[in-house]
Amino acid sequence: MYDFDVLVLGSGPGGQKAAIAAAKLDRRVGVVERRNMIGGVCINTGTIPSKTLREAVMYLTGLNQREMYGQSYRVKEDITVSDLGARTTHVIGREIEVIRSQLARNRIRLLPGTGRFVDPHTIEISDEQGRESHVTADKIILAAGTRPARPESVEFDDVTIIDSDGILNLDKVPHSMVVVGAGVIGIEYASMFAALGTKVTVVERRDRMLDFCDLEIVEALKYHLRDLSVSFRFRESVAAVEKHGRTAVAVLASGKRIAADTVMYSAGRQGAADLLSLDKAGLTADARGRITVDEHFRTEVPHIYAVGDIIGFPALASTSMEQGRLAAHHACDEPVRAMQQLQPIGIYTIPEISFVGRTEDDLTDASIPFEVGISRYRELARGQIIGDSYGMLKIIVSPEDGKILGVHVFGTGATELVHIGQTVMGCGGTVDYLVDAVFNYPTLAESYKVAALDAMNKMRSVSRLSA
Ligand SMILES: Cc1cc2nc3c(=O)[nH]c(=O)nc-3n(C[C@H](O)[C@H](O)[C@H](O)COP(=O)(O)OP(=O)(O)OC[C@H]3O[C@@H](n4cnc5c(N)ncnc54)[C@H](O)[C@@H]3O)c2cc1C
Repeated sequence: MYDFDVLVLGSGPGGQKAAIAAAKLDRRVGVVERRNMIGGVCINTGTIPSKTLREAVMYLTGLNQREMYGQSYRVKEDITVSDLGARTTHVIGREIEVIRSQLARNRIRLLPGTGRFVDPHTIEISDEQGRESHVTADKIILAAGTRPARPESVEFDDVTIIDSDGILNLDKVPHSMVVVGAGVIGIEYASMFAALGTKVTVVERRDRMLDFCDLEIVEALKYHLRDLSVSFRFRESVAAVEKHGRTAVAVLASGKRIAADTVMYSAGRQGAADLLSLDKAGLTADARGRITVDEHFRTEVPHIYAVGDIIGFPALASTSMEQGRLAAHHACDEPVRAMQQLQPIGIYTIPEISFVGRTEDDLTDASIPFEVGISRYRELARGQIIGDSYGMLKIIVSPEDGKILGVHVFGTGATELVHIGQTVMGCGGTVDYLVDAVFNYPTLAESYKVAALDAMNKMRSVSRLSA
């Protein structure tokens, strides 16, 4: 007899949803987590603080009202870190309460501390006071997440030279910032600080950023960021960072030197497998601390599952939750469907980006014909009302059967709007549905109809000529 039917390590989105799903199936469930990390990276240092910070930046700078009230419009002139931090602290506190309450309501035992394997069914938990205890479980779900990867050559001081976790502890809004790495996290923070008036330089080894996104939309984002005075250094890498009091100098491999109040590394993340003593369970991790799983999120040891960022791509809170739920159902012998292939991507830059399905580039590479329909917010009444003249929605349609192959959105509400397209695609709908649908007016959702009509008109012209 084990202490728990299901034991989960980590209380981030993957761990939470796994624990709750198993509890709903009447299993005895425990969650091991450090006392100050309830909710995981997602609530404490990642998704929630960064999205709340963005909201505070949008509100206090008045950025999205400037088309209406002029470029000098501000809600507050001198925005301080305490203005920004107040909202973040409030939301984090509330979210932690929600999670604690959900775990308690589902009779899930929270076991404070860090867990590591003693044997394949036994976990040793060390708490902050150095006390150790052992618990056993029939099934174990690892949802231990990741932490920012730190290059060894760089001396992080968590004040001037920081990683993405350090953003939340800044004691002032920097005048200048170097962001190393133009991945999602790097670009999201680059856009937030640029909106605050920080002079941001982004250094990226590759020759473009966000290469999994639609090129036209990334170009639109780059244009906007440049307009906010962001400089890009593509095909460049940071060879060293020198510290000079409260300022740093990023030395690029090409010899360029960029002085900044803050250098933020956003150069990937490292899986937290090193604390788990995986060898005691007969498991291994790769060099980046990631664990391999099968389609049911089972590791090589069948009663041990892994979900969330620790299994790698796509490493999103959204997907981690679903992985957790599916892993728990499989572990509890509940019938499960496979993870949906159609997963949206949301990038909370200013302005935001979201897409679902395929890009023009990847369809072209696969020699799959398509037609594109575009709607621009400035041609929608809602776009005019909210003062968003740059937003756009693009649908990619198969001329063969009218199926929607991809939806790409840039601008206000992109991360919400994308789900309309996702639903139509998921239900096998075609462009005809969007052409015929009546949307509330005036809305941004109407852009689906406009884009669908655009695609339909283009396809009609081609088929008339081909007839
Ligand atoms: C700045 C930033 C912004 C992001 N923005 C978004 C976004 O907008 N949308 C989105 O979908 N995703 C976003 N993400 C990604 C998202 O936060 C992660 O995908 C998600 O948090 C991963 O969930 P997880 O279940 O793997 O656990 P995590 O949230 O990574 O949490 C893992 C937990 O496990 C605990 N743990 C580790 N080792 C042990 C151990 N040995 N014993 C017990 N507990 C342990 C840790 O303390 C931690 O609390 C962002 C990430 C960052 C860093």
